[in-house]
Amino acid sequence: MILIRFRLKRALWACAGLLVACLCVALGIFSLRQVARQTAAGVGQTPVPVVLLDAGHGGEDGGAVGLGGVVEKDINLPVTRKLNTFLRVMGFETRLTRSTDTSIHDLTAGTLRERKVSDIHNRFAMIEQLGDNDFFVSIHQNQFPASSSAHGTQVFYSVNHPRSVLLAQAIQKSVVRLLQPTNTRKVKPSGTEIYLLWHSKKPAVLVECGFLSNAGDVEKLQQDSYQNQMAFAIACGVLQYNS
Ligand SMILES: [Zn+2]
Repeated sequence: MILIRFRLKRALWACAGLLVACLCVALGIFSLRQVARQTAAGVGQTPVPVVLLDAGHGGEDGGAVGLGGVVEKDINLPVTRKLNTFLRVMGFETRLTRSTDTSIHDLTAGTLRERKVSDIHNRFAMIEQLGDNDFFVSIHQNQFPASSSAHGTQVFYSVNHPRSVLLAQAIQKSVVRLLQPTNTRKVKPSGTEIYLLWHSKKPAVLVECGFLSNAGDVEKLQQDSYQNQMAFAIACGVLQYNS
């Protein structure tokens, strides 16, 4: 009987201990999230901005095809998903134009051209839904077969909003500092060739992470670890822009 009572007591203490541990973990997660949200919101700024993330191309639209047959969409999506994870940990609200390997065209779009137009219009509609405090980050890969030595990240920005260039500069600077110390590329204003940036009225940038026509970039961009580093460097730039 004494032994049973002793075991019961021990079991109760174990349960109590477990409960306290769970509470501590829950409180810890809650506090971390609060800190993260405050970090993303910046000092004295509310509310937390929404970052609309766009993995370029998708589905039947593969984008550029690089050395060794690597397809652009297959790099854009994992980098975007990793970026999404880092930004959420940092406390940002995020939305994705797509989270799987798909085009987001209307089902009524018939021809390939109609599907492409519908896809880009639907992405643009998501930009239009953003609030004044929100912004847009698109992830793509570059291609320049005429000179296979061209390499490194370059960020393009929309000229329609004064904060776009600041976001582009923060991302470019972060990638150079954390990942590509010899990269001397400068941020560039987008022309009509980048539809979403040309028409966006919200702060908007497009990150060309690297060149699929450059052997070094192609090798790195396919590595999970490098994709993580790239996503983290971009996320740090976004955080810097927002602080
Ligand atoms: Zn692209």
